[in-house]
Amino acid sequence: MNSPDFDVIVIGSGLGGLAAALTAKENGCRDVLVVESEGVLGGSTRLSGGVVMGSRSRLQRAAGIEDGEDDLFKEYMAINVWDVSAGPVERWASRSGDTIDWLENHGVPFYERLIFSGDDRRPRGHCVEGGGQAIVDALVPRCREAGIEFALGNRVDELVREGGGVTGVRAGGETLTAGAVVVATGGFGANPDYLARHYPIAWVPGETFYIGADGARGDHLRFAEQLGAQLTGENRGLRMLNPGVDTMHEAFLPGWTILLDKNGHRFCDETAPYGILDSLMKARDNVGYVVFDDAALRPPPELAERYGDAYKQIWPNHAKFKPKHYTADVMEQFKDHDRVHIAGSLDKLAASAGIPEPDLCGTVARYNQLVEAGEDTDFGKAARFLNPIATPPFYAVEVRPTAIAHTGYGLRIDDHARVIGVDGHLIAGLYAAGECTGGIVGPTYSGSGSSLASAAGLGRMAGEAAAEYVLPALA
Ligand SMILES: Cc1cc2nc3c(=O)[nH]c(=O)nc-3n(C[C@H](O)[C@H](O)[C@H](O)COP(=O)(O)OP(=O)(O)OC[C@H]3O[C@@H](n4cnc5c(N)ncnc54)[C@H](O)[C@@H]3O)c2cc1C
Repeated sequence: MNSPDFDVIVIGSGLGGLAAALTAKENGCRDVLVVESEGVLGGSTRLSGGVVMGSRSRLQRAAGIEDGEDDLFKEYMAINVWDVSAGPVERWASRSGDTIDWLENHGVPFYERLIFSGDDRRPRGHCVEGGGQAIVDALVPRCREAGIEFALGNRVDELVREGGGVTGVRAGGETLTAGAVVVATGGFGANPDYLARHYPIAWVPGETFYIGADGARGDHLRFAEQLGAQLTGENRGLRMLNPGVDTMHEAFLPGWTILLDKNGHRFCDETAPYGILDSLMKARDNVGYVVFDDAALRPPPELAERYGDAYKQIWPNHAKFKPKHYTADVMEQFKDHDRVHIAGSLDKLAASAGIPEPDLCGTVARYNQLVEAGEDTDFGKAARFLNPIATPPFYAVEVRPTAIAHTGYGLRIDDHARVIGVDGHLIAGLYAAGECTGGIVGPTYSGSGSSLASAAGLGRMAGEAAAEYVLPALA
């Protein structure tokens, strides 16, 4: 048999692809190619905030944070009520600290201070100085130094399968052969048809928008159809709350808001991580109302500092979070929008928003009592965010979780990132990493950093397994 053009071809140049390519090379592969459909490397990775989740890294230990060997795995399973592919998740989680060390060894510039990624028991969010772009800027030169080739502006149309295994890729009429292929094509947020079909809970025609890269068209779903690969994780991902007035995405609610369901009832600590808010909205028909008063928009000078401290998320690699939609200017701009309600009294606000008036008024009265007492004994929001809702005019902004940051439906893999076929057998020579995999994101998106962590972790697993598969043929 002729030797293939490449030992390994990796499709996609985000963190999943870069980690797979570099690892394949480190594990003995000679010729490795990364094919990228766009004219720029890095996919959604480069646009990302650059928080990477990891347990038991050097940095975490240096910060004096103790993490048990399988704490991350157990917490991940609990928050997802075991509704994920436990095998790959366990292997990914158990190596997550090692993966952070590996990224650091390759020049990814992490801050020393870790953050809480989401609903985790201890800080595991490793913040990259310079965000996701800095990850790409560190890894791409490492890949080039190692001799990995890049082909930009080449969208892989299909995979080549011969004798039961995957043996190459086709792009723009050209065929390249390979000992193994790693699919690392990201998610499908940029493909409205796939969003409507595979993430219907996120799909509101005319409103849903994606905040990631254009290349996230879901080509892995086409490859799966072509090869008979299993898919899993339908209707999973990460949605963020959006008022529907524009496509500016806002990760967190200011602490001085209250978030109500359509019956006018409060249901959570409004400073909750976005993955938690996403799940809470699922249980409430995906509609909420962000309610606040005019003092929050125009605080008197003596309270400006108090209202200015509106976020519990303080990230070393991010400017201080500030409200984007919930400002005097934006409220003025959209005051006639049917999702923005402004009224001089709470009963008029309820009538305008279509929320039952006794419930809205009662909820605000109860909240103001908690503020007065200085403790949110209903939902546990920190005392420093408790400000009365008492100064007219009052605002109620209808929000829906329609800003998409991640899609979770993709290729089913085993604990070595090998793709599983519909017939239950592994598809020889085929591996997958990153957002194109399914079964890693469960019913609740577990927190900032889990996507980059799984992209890097599964990428390393795919690179190792691909090398192990092709090396005997190279000997
Ligand atoms: C604004 C934003 C902020 C985020 N912040 C964070 C964060 O701080 N922490 C975190 O954990 N997660 C974050 N995420 C999610 C995270 O960035 C992604 O899940 C992760 O980067 C996906 O990595 P990936 O390698 O799987 O895909 P990508 O980085 O999207 O790379 C996939 C690449 O494949 C290419 N491609 C697609 N199809 C083809 C084809 N047929 N042929 C060739 N190339 C193809 C694409 O063009 C793309 O470059 C964020 C996402 C967004 C959008």
